[in-house]
Amino acid sequence: MIIIKTPAEIDQMREACIISARALKLGGEAVQPGISTLEIDNIVNEYINSQGAVASFLGYKGFPNCCCISVNDTVVHGIPHKDCILKNGDIVSVDVGAFINGFHGDNAATFPCGDVCVQALKLMDITKESLLKGIEKVAEGNRIGDIANAIQTHVENNGFSVVKNFEGHGIGVNLHEDPSIPNYGVAQRGPRLQKGMVLAIEPMVNFGDEGVRILSDGWTTITSDGNLSAHFEHTVALTEEGCVILTVCE
Ligand code: MG
Repeated sequence: MIIIKTPAEIDQMREACIISARALKLGGEAVQPGISTLEIDNIVNEYINSQGAVASFLGYKGFPNCCCISVNDTVVHGIPHKDCILKNGDIVSVDVGAFINGFHGDNAATFPCGDVCVQALKLMDITKESLLKGIEKVAEGNRIGDIANAIQTHVENNGFSVVKNFEGHGIGVNLHEDPSIPNYGVAQRGPRLQKGMVLAIEPMVNFGDEGVRILSDGWTTITSDGNLSAHFEHTVALTEEGCVILTVCE
């Protein structure tokens, strides 16, 4: 069931989303050769707590940390670890959410660590662009399939592949709500978009094949072919004024 939010509830969600966005920015700024992913996680968690919020992922279905930090061929759900030390040339996806005022915010981005190769930069650019192409479709009367198709088309036109095992989602009182938002699909299919929907749209894009594999920790998801993967996410709301990106730094 899709939970429609009132304008007042969407206003209440802004704080969680802004804290999520600032936390992500801090996490990105910490990405540099020599730092461990656990140190980045600690920086982000301390910031979220300093704002009176709680990290949405900490303890979610047993997830042990504040952020998912996914390096290179890790697609999503990488677990921060003191022994995972970033190297020059890595690409690092940070996914983080915050909970405050009874609502969650959720966002992600992939950051370059030092000097990364041209192909990796292109993968990151196309993934971010595909998120924005999806967000452009968030309008009354459109359907979830319009978002999905816009993302898939942009990714595939640039020679990359969308991950099909994980999807974006509605968000609100719960971190994951209906509807599911696949990153592939047919335009004009699926649930119709209406005012009051708040959506976390999150394309995961592989440099090579779309296949992924989950490691024995039950979380870490890597590309089957060992190629790079990137991930960008925003929480957006469909309001009287149209689509508004909530996960922005002010
Ligand atoms: Mg999400």
